Amino acid sequence: MLKVIKYPNTILRKTAKPIVDFNDTLAKIATDMAEVMFADKGVGLAGPQVGIQQKIILAGNRKNHDYQAYINPKITFSSKSTEIGEEGCLSLPKIFGLVTRAKKIRVKYQDLTGKVHKEKFKGFPAIILQHEIDHLNGVLFIDRATEITQGQDILDQLKEKK
Ligand SMILES: [Zn+2]
Repeated sequence: MLKVIKYPNTILRKTAKPIVDFNDTLAKIATDMAEVMFADKGVGLAGPQVGIQQKIILAGNRKNHDYQAYINPKITFSSKSTEIGEEGCLSLPKIFGLVTRAKKIRVKYQDLTGKVHKEKFKGFPAIILQHEIDHLNGVLFIDRATEITQGQDILDQLKEKK
């Protein structure tokens, strides 16, 4: 099984590369990522979090293990209205913080076959996608957090290790 890379590993800070081949290898990556995501009880996972420096993210439903893969996702619109929510990350276990995100977004992405989609998202799915797309650009929620609500001590220790 793929392993989740944890902060402060510098792999998490790199920019992911666009995906050009929509083949069985990509399908396998998505399946393997879903396995890790659900095993770790996540609702989203980005390629760089498992050492895959490619623009692939997943959003999943913990209850029925249903998931969607978004390839080369790009936010084409972010609403001015925002909301503050508590976020966590599989790469930063036991750390949570308040992050302000756009309430509504539009995302252009490809599916596993390469087909282009443009879709609107709001609420929880919009937050997951903004968080995961950040990972593709080497951005972590702690960079955006206005307040760390849990695990500040853990985060301080990890920062010292860096
Ligand atoms: Zn994350």
